[in-house]
Amino acid sequence: MPSFVITEKCDGCKAQDKTACQYICPHDLMALDREKMKAYNQEPEQCWECFNCVKICPQQAIEVRGYSDFVPLGSSTIPMRGTDSIMWTIKFRNGVLKRFKFPIRTTVEGSVDPYAGKPAPDWSTLKQPGLFTAPARKE
Ligand code: SF4
Ligand code: SF4
Repeated sequence: MPSFVITEKCDGCKAQDKTACQYICPHDLMALDREKMKAYNQEPEQCWECFNCVKICPQQAIEVRGYSDFVPLGSSTIPMRGTDSIMWTIKFRNGVLKRFKFPIRTTVEGSVDPYAGKPAPDWSTLKQPGLFTAPARKE
């Protein structure tokens, strides 16, 4: 059930260097046809259906839809991203629409400081195993 681009809605992310769907795909599947300014999934059989591209597309131009031989036709799952929540619109085959709103963060966007409360890094330990943020080991 790969992602596909609804070409009427895609604006190629207005010709930026890298489109939002290219940026977000963990499998590097999205490509942009620069002549037509439309994105496409260049290897649908490799798609993980992770929905990242669906969620990030500013034009709501990407859908993940089941193959017609085993998923009922006419249904769809479309997200609408907000800054603090995401609204999913689920359309069933019989036309019934349901909407679910889920919070996607608990802090104000841009307010997280990942180093807050951490000590300054000790460069002498740079080549030692372990992570800067790992809890101190008990001897
Ligand atoms: S993120 Fe959406 S609008 Fe941008 S190139 Fe991809 S499909 Fe098109
Ligand atoms: S659904 Fe996930 S794996 Fe598939 S094209 Fe979109 S971002 Fe890539």
